[in-house]
Amino acid sequence: MTVTTRAAGDAADRGAEAVRFREGAGRLSLDFIRTLRYRGTLGAVEELADVPALVAWIVQCGPCALEPDPALVRPTEVRDARSLREAVHELIAAGLGPGGVASSSFLSRELVNRAAAVPAPTPRVDPSGALLWIAADPVAATLSLVARDAVDLVTSPAILRVRECADPTCGALFVDNSRPGNRRWCSMGACGNRAKKSTIRKKAAQGNADKAERDRGKDGRA
Ligand SMILES: [Zn+2]
Repeated sequence: MTVTTRAAGDAADRGAEAVRFREGAGRLSLDFIRTLRYRGTLGAVEELADVPALVAWIVQCGPCALEPDPALVRPTEVRDARSLREAVHELIAAGLGPGGVASSSFLSRELVNRAAAVPAPTPRVDPSGALLWIAADPVAATLSLVARDAVDLVTSPAILRVRECADPTCGALFVDNSRPGNRRWCSMGACGNRAKKSTIRKKAAQGNADKAERDRGKDGRA
């Protein structure tokens, strides 16, 4: 596959593209399944809509130093990536449920297992002494990392730390690495902040209602 180069891991140089997709769930597989935003609702948004979107996710979230050439990525790879994403989601959802990952479908396990069997990016030391991750096919190799991460997650105690964001419109899954294990939101900057503001607004409204009630009481006594 023909590839174009970019500075590895240099998020600042990637500008707006670096923040196109949500990251920070704590696992690559969890970040990947967030590319279907508002999953399970009527307002679900497909973020992996086409080849450029898939390539952009690989560039932003994957480790490879070489970018895939969008002209060489087939539309069927986008469809397959979305199928893999839904299979990963099914395995993780099953892993969080009472039946465990064993209750996931054979088809989904096969999809994930097959993607995990594809060669993953390999590390190299470049002449300047820097670490470079390379792959002949950065798309398939990065999706292999996603699948391997999912397999590791659902078969290890790490699954016990996976939570669903408390924001009812978010639904994102994330790893709760807090010591007490009681983190509620996928991100304090977005969902946590929204909840905090909503609580402040409700308290203010309740305070106003209480004051109005007291004022009415005073009027009644007068
Ligand atoms: Zn959230």
